[in-house]
Amino acid sequence: MRLSRYFLPVLKENPSEAQIVSHRYMLRAGMIKQSAAGIYSWLPLGFRVLKNIEQIVHEEQQRAGHVPMLMPTLQSADLWRESGRYDDYGEEMLRITDRHGRDMLYGPTNEELITDIFRSHVGSYKDLPLTLYHIQWKFRDEIRPRFGVMRGREFYMKDGYNFDIDRDAAIHAYNRHMVSYLRTYERMGLQAIPMRADSGPIGGEDTHEFLVLADTGESEVFYDSAITDLRMGERKVNYDSWDECAAIVKEWTTPYARTDETHDGDLFAKVPQERQRTSRGIEVGQIFYFGTKYSETMDARVVNDKGERVPVHMGSHGIGVSRLLGAIIEASHDDKGIIWPEGVTPFHCGIVNLKQGDAEADAACEALYASLSALGLDPLYDDRNERAGGKFATMDLIGLPWRITVGPRGLKNGVVELTSRRTGESEEMTPEMAVEKVAAVYAALR
Ligand code: ATP
Ligand code: MG
Repeated sequence: MRLSRYFLPVLKENPSEAQIVSHRYMLRAGMIKQSAAGIYSWLPLGFRVLKNIEQIVHEEQQRAGHVPMLMPTLQSADLWRESGRYDDYGEEMLRITDRHGRDMLYGPTNEELITDIFRSHVGSYKDLPLTLYHIQWKFRDEIRPRFGVMRGREFYMKDGYNFDIDRDAAIHAYNRHMVSYLRTYERMGLQAIPMRADSGPIGGEDTHEFLVLADTGESEVFYDSAITDLRMGERKVNYDSWDECAAIVKEWTTPYARTDETHDGDLFAKVPQERQRTSRGIEVGQIFYFGTKYSETMDARVVNDKGERVPVHMGSHGIGVSRLLGAIIEASHDDKGIIWPEGVTPFHCGIVNLKQGDAEADAACEALYASLSALGLDPLYDDRNERAGGKFATMDLIGLPWRITVGPRGLKNGVVELTSRRTGESEEMTPEMAVEKVAAVYAALR
Protein backbone atom coordinates (compact mmCIF):
# COMPACT_ATOMS: atom_id res chain seq x y z
CA MET A 1 0.00 0.00 0.00
CA ARG A 2 1.17 3.50 -0.80
CA LEU A 3 0.36 5.94 1.94
CA SER A 4 -0.56 8.66 -0.57
CA ARG A 5 -3.44 6.47 -1.73
CA TYR A 6 -4.42 5.07 1.64
CA PHE A 7 -6.84 6.38 4.25
CA LEU A 8 -4.91 6.89 7.46
CA PRO A 9 -6.48 9.78 9.35
CA VAL A 10 -3.76 10.21 12.01
CA LEU A 11 -4.53 12.64 14.85
CA LYS A 12 -1.80 14.99 16.10
CA GLU A 13 -3.44 15.71 19.44
CA ASN A 14 -4.37 13.29 22.18
CA PRO A 15 -8.13 12.80 22.11
CA SER A 16 -9.52 13.91 25.46
CA GLU A 17 -12.08 11.11 25.73
CA ALA A 18 -9.45 8.36 25.79
CA GLN A 19 -8.50 7.32 29.31
CA ILE A 20 -6.17 4.46 28.49
CA VAL A 21 -3.24 4.15 26.13
CA SER A 22 -4.75 1.60 23.75
CA HIS A 23 -7.84 3.71 23.17
CA ARG A 24 -5.69 6.82 22.72
CA TYR A 25 -3.40 5.16 20.17
CA MET A 26 -6.22 3.50 18.26
CA LEU A 27 -7.86 6.90 17.80
CA ARG A 28 -4.59 8.70 17.03
CA ALA A 29 -3.46 6.04 14.55
CA GLY A 30 -6.76 6.38 12.68
CA MET A 31 -7.83 2.80 13.41
CA ILE A 32 -11.34 3.39 14.73
CA LYS A 33 -13.95 6.10 14.94
CA GLN A 34 -16.74 6.08 17.47
CA SER A 35 -20.16 6.25 15.87
CA ALA A 36 -22.20 6.02 19.09
CA ALA A 37 -21.34 5.13 22.68
CA GLY A 38 -19.51 1.79 22.58
CA ILE A 39 -20.02 1.40 18.81
CA TYR A 40 -17.16 1.92 16.38
CA SER A 41 -16.37 2.07 12.71
CA TRP A 42 -13.24 0.17 11.86
CA LEU A 43 -11.11 2.41 9.66
CA PRO A 44 -8.74 0.72 7.20
CA LEU A 45 -5.76 0.30 9.54
CA GLY A 46 -7.88 -1.01 12.41
CA PHE A 47 -9.78 -3.27 10.04
CA ARG A 48 -6.53 -4.87 8.86
CA VAL A 49 -5.50 -5.78 12.40
CA LEU A 50 -8.99 -7.02 13.24
CA LYS A 51 -8.87 -9.33 10.21
CA ASN A 52 -5.38 -10.58 11.11
CA ILE A 53 -6.53 -11.47 14.60
CA GLU A 54 -9.64 -13.13 13.21
CA GLN A 55 -7.49 -15.13 10.80
CA ILE A 56 -5.30 -16.50 13.60
CA VAL A 57 -8.41 -17.46 15.56
CA HIS A 58 -9.82 -19.29 12.52
CA GLU A 59 -6.57 -21.14 11.86
CA GLU A 60 -6.15 -22.31 15.44
CA GLN A 61 -9.81 -23.31 15.78
CA GLN A 62 -9.65 -25.39 12.65
CA ARG A 63 -6.34 -26.88 13.69
CA ALA A 64 -8.17 -28.14 16.80
CA GLY A 65 -10.86 -29.68 14.60
CA HIS A 66 -13.60 -27.12 15.22
CA VAL A 67 -15.99 -26.35 12.38
CA PRO A 68 -16.61 -22.75 11.23
CA MET A 69 -20.05 -21.41 10.36
CA LEU A 70 -21.96 -18.16 10.68
CA MET A 71 -25.09 -17.37 12.67
CA PRO A 72 -27.03 -14.12 12.37
CA THR A 73 -26.73 -11.13 14.70
CA LEU A 74 -30.50 -10.86 15.18
CA GLN A 75 -32.30 -13.65 16.95
CA SER A 76 -35.89 -14.47 17.79
CA ALA A 77 -36.84 -14.06 21.46
CA ASP A 78 -38.73 -17.38 21.40
CA LEU A 79 -35.60 -19.52 21.70
CA TRP A 80 -34.48 -17.48 24.69
CA ARG A 81 -37.86 -17.95 26.33
CA GLU A 82 -37.35 -21.68 25.92
CA SER A 83 -34.05 -21.63 27.79
CA GLY A 84 -35.45 -19.23 30.36
CA ARG A 85 -32.78 -16.63 29.66
CA TYR A 86 -35.03 -14.04 27.98
CA ASP A 87 -36.04 -12.70 31.35
CA ASP A 88 -32.81 -13.59 33.16
CA TYR A 89 -30.42 -11.74 30.88
CA GLY A 90 -31.58 -8.30 31.97
CA GLU A 91 -30.89 -4.90 30.51
CA GLU A 92 -27.66 -5.85 28.74
CA MET A 93 -29.79 -7.49 26.07
CA LEU A 94 -30.85 -5.16 23.28
CA ARG A 95 -34.46 -6.04 22.58
CA ILE A 96 -36.05 -5.13 19.28
CA THR A 97 -39.60 -5.45 17.96
CA ASP A 98 -40.09 -6.00 14.24
CA ARG A 99 -42.96 -4.54 12.17
CA HIS A 100 -45.16 -7.53 12.93
CA GLY A 101 -44.76 -7.01 16.65
CA ARG A 102 -42.45 -10.03 17.04
CA ASP A 103 -39.85 -9.86 19.81
CA MET A 104 -36.30 -10.02 18.52
CA LEU A 105 -32.93 -9.36 20.07
CA TYR A 106 -29.41 -8.54 18.97
CA GLY A 107 -27.47 -11.60 20.09
CA PRO A 108 -25.20 -11.15 23.12
CA THR A 109 -24.14 -14.82 22.73
CA ASN A 110 -25.47 -17.88 20.87
CA GLU A 111 -26.08 -20.89 23.12
CA GLU A 112 -29.81 -20.99 22.28
CA LEU A 113 -29.40 -20.57 18.54
CA ILE A 114 -26.71 -23.22 18.22
CA THR A 115 -28.62 -25.66 20.43
CA ASP A 116 -31.63 -25.22 18.17
CA ILE A 117 -29.51 -25.91 15.08
CA PHE A 118 -27.99 -28.95 16.73
CA ARG A 119 -31.28 -30.51 17.84
CA SER A 120 -32.77 -30.01 14.37
CA HIS A 121 -30.08 -32.04 12.66
CA VAL A 122 -28.23 -34.34 15.04
CA GLY A 123 -29.82 -37.37 16.65
CA SER A 124 -27.17 -40.01 17.18
CA TYR A 125 -24.01 -40.41 19.26
CA LYS A 126 -22.33 -41.44 16.01
CA ASP A 127 -22.38 -37.80 14.91
CA LEU A 128 -20.42 -36.75 18.01
CA PRO A 129 -18.13 -35.20 19.02
CA LEU A 130 -18.98 -31.94 17.27
CA THR A 131 -17.71 -28.44 17.87
CA LEU A 132 -19.15 -25.56 15.85
CA TYR A 133 -17.98 -21.98 16.07
CA HIS A 134 -18.43 -18.64 14.44
CA ILE A 135 -16.95 -15.16 14.60
CA GLN A 136 -19.73 -12.63 14.64
CA TRP A 137 -20.71 -9.24 16.04
CA LYS A 138 -22.39 -9.26 19.41
CA PHE A 139 -24.29 -6.58 21.23
CA ARG A 140 -24.42 -6.09 24.97
CA ASP A 141 -25.92 -2.88 26.22
CA GLU A 142 -23.11 -2.34 28.71
CA ILE A 143 -24.04 0.20 31.34
CA ARG A 144 -20.63 1.86 31.04
CA PRO A 145 -19.03 1.28 27.65
CA ARG A 146 -15.47 2.57 27.91
CA PHE A 147 -11.85 2.20 26.98
CA GLY A 148 -12.68 2.09 23.27
CA VAL A 149 -12.97 -1.41 21.82
CA MET A 150 -12.05 -2.88 25.18
CA ARG A 151 -15.57 -2.57 26.54
CA GLY A 152 -17.80 -1.79 23.61
CA ARG A 153 -21.50 -2.37 23.25
CA GLU A 154 -21.10 -3.83 19.77
CA PHE A 155 -18.06 -6.11 19.69
CA TYR A 156 -16.62 -8.93 17.62
CA MET A 157 -16.40 -12.30 19.28
CA LYS A 158 -15.49 -15.83 18.42
CA ASP A 159 -17.90 -18.16 20.15
CA GLY A 160 -17.72 -21.92 19.86
CA TYR A 161 -19.92 -24.68 21.21
CA ASN A 162 -19.05 -28.31 21.79
CA PHE A 163 -21.54 -31.18 21.79
CA ASP A 164 -20.42 -34.42 23.39
CA ILE A 165 -21.95 -37.68 24.50
CA ASP A 166 -20.92 -37.50 28.14
CA ARG A 167 -19.02 -35.57 30.73
CA ASP A 168 -15.61 -37.10 29.98
CA ALA A 169 -15.85 -36.32 26.29
CA ALA A 170 -16.98 -32.78 27.08
CA ILE A 171 -14.06 -32.31 29.47
CA HIS A 172 -11.75 -33.29 26.61
CA ALA A 173 -13.45 -30.61 24.50
CA TYR A 174 -12.84 -28.15 27.33
CA ASN A 175 -9.17 -29.11 27.50
CA ARG A 176 -8.81 -28.97 23.73
CA HIS A 177 -10.19 -25.45 23.79
CA MET A 178 -7.79 -24.37 26.48
CA VAL A 179 -4.84 -25.68 24.49
CA SER A 180 -6.00 -24.08 21.26
CA TYR A 181 -6.55 -20.76 23.06
CA LEU A 182 -3.04 -20.85 24.50
CA ARG A 183 -1.66 -21.29 20.99
CA THR A 184 -3.94 -18.58 19.62
CA TYR A 185 -2.82 -15.90 22.06
CA GLU A 186 0.84 -16.85 21.73
CA ARG A 187 0.67 -16.38 17.97
CA MET A 188 -0.61 -12.87 18.60
CA GLY A 189 2.47 -12.14 20.69
CA LEU A 190 0.42 -12.17 23.88
CA GLN A 191 0.70 -13.94 27.14
CA ALA A 192 -2.84 -14.73 28.31
CA ILE A 193 -2.98 -16.65 31.57
CA PRO A 194 -5.82 -19.09 32.19
CA MET A 195 -7.37 -18.34 35.57
CA ARG A 196 -10.07 -20.13 37.52
CA ALA A 197 -13.17 -17.98 37.23
CA ASP A 198 -16.77 -17.72 38.27
CA SER A 199 -19.39 -18.92 35.83
CA GLY A 200 -21.82 -15.94 35.81
CA PRO A 201 -25.01 -15.91 33.68
CA ILE A 202 -23.90 -18.71 31.33
CA GLY A 203 -23.79 -21.08 34.28
CA GLY A 204 -21.64 -24.14 34.67
CA GLU A 205 -19.29 -26.12 36.80
CA ASP A 206 -15.99 -25.47 35.09
CA THR A 207 -14.67 -22.28 33.67
CA HIS A 208 -11.42 -20.46 33.03
CA GLU A 209 -10.84 -16.93 31.88
CA PHE A 210 -7.74 -15.93 29.92
CA LEU A 211 -6.17 -12.75 31.21
CA VAL A 212 -3.55 -10.46 29.77
CA LEU A 213 -1.66 -8.71 32.55
CA ALA A 214 -1.97 -4.93 32.30
CA ASP A 215 -2.34 -2.12 34.82
CA THR A 216 -5.44 -0.93 33.03
CA GLY A 217 -7.20 -4.30 33.26
CA GLU A 218 -10.60 -4.36 34.91
CA SER A 219 -10.05 -7.58 36.87
CA GLU A 220 -7.90 -8.02 39.93
CA VAL A 221 -5.80 -11.17 39.61
CA PHE A 222 -3.64 -13.27 41.91
CA TYR A 223 -1.06 -15.70 40.57
CA ASP A 224 2.09 -17.66 41.06
CA SER A 225 4.76 -16.02 38.90
CA ALA A 226 5.88 -19.51 37.80
CA ILE A 227 2.94 -19.53 35.38
CA THR A 228 4.43 -16.66 33.38
CA ASP A 229 7.39 -18.88 32.44
CA LEU A 230 5.18 -21.37 30.60
CA ARG A 231 5.09 -21.36 26.79
CA MET A 232 3.35 -23.51 24.20
CA GLY A 233 6.23 -22.75 21.83
CA GLU A 234 6.73 -25.03 18.88
CA ARG A 235 5.34 -28.21 20.41
CA LYS A 236 3.03 -30.17 18.14
CA VAL A 237 -0.29 -31.02 19.70
CA ASN A 238 -2.45 -33.99 18.84
CA TYR A 239 -5.87 -32.54 19.56
CA ASP A 240 -7.48 -35.97 19.43
CA SER A 241 -5.40 -37.20 22.33
CA TRP A 242 -7.29 -36.81 25.59
CA ASP A 243 -4.11 -37.45 27.58
CA GLU A 244 -1.99 -34.96 25.69
CA CYS A 245 -4.52 -32.14 26.03
CA ALA A 246 -5.14 -32.97 29.69
CA ALA A 247 -1.40 -32.89 30.40
CA ILE A 248 -1.06 -29.42 28.87
CA VAL A 249 -4.07 -28.19 30.83
CA LYS A 250 -2.56 -29.62 34.00
CA GLU A 251 0.70 -27.81 33.32
CA TRP A 252 -1.13 -24.48 33.01
CA THR A 253 -3.62 -24.94 35.82
CA THR A 254 -1.28 -26.25 38.50
CA PRO A 255 0.34 -22.92 39.44
CA TYR A 256 -2.11 -20.74 41.37
CA ALA A 257 -3.90 -18.22 39.11
CA ARG A 258 -7.30 -16.79 39.95
CA THR A 259 -9.38 -13.68 39.53
CA ASP A 260 -10.81 -11.86 42.55
CA GLU A 261 -14.10 -13.73 42.11
CA THR A 262 -12.56 -17.09 42.97
CA HIS A 263 -9.48 -15.97 44.88
CA ASP A 264 -8.69 -18.13 47.91
CA GLY A 265 -6.35 -16.41 50.36
CA ASP A 266 -5.36 -19.61 52.16
CA LEU A 267 -4.38 -21.41 48.95
CA PHE A 268 -2.53 -18.35 47.69
CA ALA A 269 -0.57 -18.21 50.94
CA LYS A 270 0.91 -21.63 50.09
CA VAL A 271 2.62 -20.17 47.00
CA PRO A 272 6.23 -19.31 47.94
CA GLN A 273 6.14 -15.67 48.94
CA GLU A 274 8.66 -14.46 46.37
CA ARG A 275 6.41 -15.86 43.62
CA GLN A 276 3.11 -14.37 44.85
CA ARG A 277 1.84 -11.70 42.47
CA THR A 278 -1.19 -9.44 42.61
CA SER A 279 -1.94 -7.50 39.48
CA ARG A 280 -4.63 -6.43 37.08
CA GLY A 281 -5.72 -8.24 33.96
CA ILE A 282 -7.76 -7.87 30.78
CA GLU A 283 -10.11 -10.77 30.03
CA VAL A 284 -9.55 -11.80 26.41
CA GLY A 285 -11.39 -15.11 26.48
CA GLN A 286 -13.32 -17.58 28.55
CA ILE A 287 -14.15 -21.28 28.30
CA PHE A 288 -17.05 -23.06 30.01
CA TYR A 289 -18.22 -26.58 30.55
CA PHE A 290 -21.87 -26.44 31.54
CA GLY A 291 -23.06 -30.00 31.14
CA THR A 292 -26.68 -30.46 30.14
CA LYS A 293 -27.98 -27.04 31.16
CA TYR A 294 -29.22 -26.11 27.69
CA SER A 295 -29.69 -29.57 26.25
CA GLU A 296 -32.17 -30.48 29.00
CA THR A 297 -34.23 -27.30 28.88
CA MET A 298 -34.15 -27.20 25.07
CA ASP A 299 -34.43 -30.95 24.55
CA ALA A 300 -31.21 -31.46 22.59
CA ARG A 301 -30.80 -35.22 22.89
CA VAL A 302 -29.07 -37.98 20.97
CA VAL A 303 -29.46 -41.72 21.01
CA ASN A 304 -26.49 -43.34 22.77
CA ASP A 305 -24.95 -46.77 22.07
CA LYS A 306 -27.52 -48.40 24.39
CA GLY A 307 -30.41 -46.93 22.42
CA GLU A 308 -31.35 -44.37 25.09
CA ARG A 309 -32.08 -40.71 24.33
CA VAL A 310 -29.74 -38.66 26.47
CA PRO A 311 -29.14 -34.91 26.67
CA VAL A 312 -25.79 -33.89 25.17
CA HIS A 313 -23.02 -32.36 27.25
CA MET A 314 -22.06 -28.91 26.11
CA GLY A 315 -19.63 -26.09 26.66
CA SER A 316 -19.14 -22.67 25.19
CA HIS A 317 -15.91 -20.91 24.48
CA GLY A 318 -15.35 -17.24 23.63
CA ILE A 319 -12.52 -15.06 22.42
CA GLY A 320 -12.90 -11.28 22.42
CA VAL A 321 -11.57 -10.62 18.92
CA SER A 322 -12.14 -6.85 18.90
CA ARG A 323 -11.08 -6.45 22.53
CA LEU A 324 -7.80 -8.16 21.64
CA LEU A 325 -6.66 -5.11 19.66
CA GLY A 326 -6.86 -3.05 22.83
CA ALA A 327 -5.25 -5.77 24.93
CA ILE A 328 -2.33 -6.21 22.52
CA ILE A 329 -1.67 -2.47 22.50
CA GLU A 330 -1.87 -2.28 26.30
CA ALA A 331 0.77 -5.01 26.41
CA SER A 332 2.95 -3.66 23.60
CA HIS A 333 3.57 0.07 23.17
CA ASP A 334 5.92 2.86 24.16
CA ASP A 335 5.58 6.63 24.43
CA LYS A 336 5.79 7.04 20.64
CA GLY A 337 3.00 4.65 19.78
CA ILE A 338 1.98 1.08 19.18
CA ILE A 339 4.47 -1.78 18.73
CA TRP A 340 2.65 -4.51 16.82
CA PRO A 341 3.74 -8.09 17.34
CA GLU A 342 4.67 -9.56 13.94
CA GLY A 343 1.77 -12.00 14.07
CA VAL A 344 -0.91 -9.32 13.85
CA THR A 345 0.77 -6.25 12.34
CA PRO A 346 -1.35 -4.39 9.76
CA PHE A 347 1.63 -4.12 7.38
CA HIS A 348 4.77 -6.18 7.55
CA CYS A 349 7.19 -3.37 6.94
CA GLY A 350 7.22 0.38 6.44
CA ILE A 351 9.25 2.06 3.72
CA VAL A 352 10.21 5.66 4.37
CA ASN A 353 11.50 7.74 1.50
CA LEU A 354 13.55 10.58 2.96
CA LYS A 355 13.56 12.55 -0.28
CA GLN A 356 10.42 12.04 -2.27
CA GLY A 357 10.97 13.22 -5.84
CA ASP A 358 14.65 12.30 -5.89
CA ALA A 359 14.86 9.94 -8.84
CA GLU A 360 17.28 7.55 -7.21
CA ALA A 361 15.47 7.41 -3.85
CA ASP A 362 12.10 6.97 -5.55
CA ALA A 363 13.42 4.14 -7.69
CA ALA A 364 15.03 2.39 -4.73
CA CYS A 365 11.74 2.58 -2.77
CA GLU A 366 9.78 1.23 -5.72
CA ALA A 367 12.22 -1.65 -6.03
CA LEU A 368 11.94 -2.46 -2.32
CA TYR A 369 8.17 -2.30 -2.57
CA ALA A 370 8.19 -4.68 -5.51
CA SER A 371 10.55 -7.21 -3.92
CA LEU A 372 8.70 -7.29 -0.58
CA SER A 373 5.37 -7.69 -2.39
CA ALA A 374 6.77 -10.44 -4.58
CA LEU A 375 7.58 -12.37 -1.40
CA GLY A 376 3.95 -12.16 -0.30
CA LEU A 377 4.56 -9.37 2.21
CA ASP A 378 2.50 -6.20 2.57
CA PRO A 379 4.70 -3.11 2.84
CA LEU A 380 3.37 0.36 3.63
CA TYR A 381 5.33 2.87 1.56
CA ASP A 382 5.28 6.43 2.84
CA ASP A 383 5.52 8.16 -0.52
CA ARG A 384 4.10 11.48 0.66
CA ASN A 385 5.91 14.73 0.18
CA GLU A 386 6.53 15.23 3.89
CA ARG A 387 9.42 15.99 6.18
CA ALA A 388 11.33 12.96 7.43
CA GLY A 389 10.40 13.77 11.05
CA GLY A 390 6.69 13.60 10.27
CA LYS A 391 7.10 10.32 8.41
CA PHE A 392 9.02 8.74 11.29
CA ALA A 393 6.43 9.94 13.81
CA THR A 394 3.63 8.35 11.78
CA MET A 395 5.52 5.06 11.41
CA ASP A 396 6.28 4.98 15.14
CA LEU A 397 2.66 5.73 16.03
CA ILE A 398 1.15 3.03 13.82
CA GLY A 399 3.73 0.59 15.11
CA LEU A 400 4.93 -1.51 12.17
CA PRO A 401 7.63 -3.85 13.53
CA TRP A 402 10.13 -3.04 10.75
CA ARG A 403 11.01 0.10 8.84
CA ILE A 404 13.31 0.51 5.89
CA THR A 405 14.56 4.07 5.48
CA VAL A 406 15.81 5.15 2.07
CA GLY A 407 17.73 8.37 1.39
CA PRO A 408 20.07 9.72 -1.26
CA ARG A 409 23.03 9.77 1.14
CA GLY A 410 22.81 6.07 1.98
CA LEU A 411 22.12 5.11 -1.58
CA LYS A 412 25.45 6.67 -2.62
CA ASN A 413 27.05 3.87 -0.59
CA GLY A 414 24.51 1.34 -1.77
CA VAL A 415 22.77 1.05 1.60
CA VAL A 416 19.40 1.61 3.26
CA GLU A 417 18.61 1.48 6.97
CA LEU A 418 16.60 -1.28 8.63
CA THR A 419 15.06 -0.33 11.98
CA SER A 420 13.32 -2.50 14.55
CA ARG A 421 10.35 -0.71 16.11
CA ARG A 422 10.71 -2.72 19.30
CA THR A 423 14.39 -2.15 20.05
CA GLY A 424 14.82 1.08 18.10
CA GLU A 425 18.06 -0.35 16.70
CA SER A 426 19.03 0.52 13.15
CA GLU A 427 21.43 -1.21 10.83
CA GLU A 428 22.72 -0.18 7.42
CA MET A 429 22.68 -2.80 4.70
CA THR A 430 21.99 -3.29 1.03
CA PRO A 431 18.33 -3.12 0.02
CA GLU A 432 18.47 -6.82 -0.92
CA MET A 433 19.75 -7.73 2.53
CA ALA A 434 17.01 -5.64 4.18
CA VAL A 435 14.32 -7.45 2.21
CA GLU A 436 15.88 -10.79 3.07
CA LYS A 437 16.01 -9.99 6.79
CA VAL A 438 12.39 -8.83 6.93
CA ALA A 439 11.22 -11.84 4.95
CA ALA A 440 13.11 -14.21 7.24
CA VAL A 441 11.37 -12.81 10.32
CA TYR A 442 7.93 -13.50 8.88
CA ALA A 443 8.89 -16.85 7.42
CA ALA A 444 9.77 -17.99 10.93
CA LEU A 445 6.22 -17.37 12.20
CA ARG A 446 3.93 -20.35 12.44
P1 ATP B 1 -16.67 -9.07 30.89
O1 ATP B 1 -16.55 -9.80 32.21
O2 ATP B 1 -15.42 -8.36 30.48
O3 ATP B 1 -17.89 -8.23 30.81
P2 ATP B 1 -17.85 -11.43 29.90
O4 ATP B 1 -17.26 -12.40 30.85
O5 ATP B 1 -19.22 -10.96 30.12
O6 ATP B 1 -16.87 -10.19 29.78
P3 ATP B 1 -17.92 -13.51 27.87
O7 ATP B 1 -19.35 -13.81 27.81
O8 ATP B 1 -17.02 -14.41 28.60
O9 ATP B 1 -17.73 -12.00 28.41
O10 ATP B 1 -17.43 -13.22 26.37
C1 ATP B 1 -16.24 -13.76 25.79
C2 ATP B 1 -15.22 -12.69 25.51
O11 ATP B 1 -15.77 -11.59 24.78
C3 ATP B 1 -14.67 -12.05 26.78
O12 ATP B 1 -13.64 -12.83 27.32
C4 ATP B 1 -14.17 -10.71 26.27
O13 ATP B 1 -12.86 -10.87 25.75
C5 ATP B 1 -15.12 -10.38 25.14
N1 ATP B 1 -16.08 -9.37 25.57
C6 ATP B 1 -17.10 -9.51 26.43
N2 ATP B 1 -17.78 -8.36 26.60
C7 ATP B 1 -17.17 -7.45 25.79
C8 ATP B 1 -17.40 -6.08 25.51
N3 ATP B 1 -18.41 -5.42 26.09
N4 ATP B 1 -16.59 -5.45 24.62
C9 ATP B 1 -15.58 -6.13 24.03
N5 ATP B 1 -15.32 -7.42 24.27
C10 ATP B 1 -16.09 -8.08 25.13
MG1 MG C 1 -16.21 -13.85 30.48
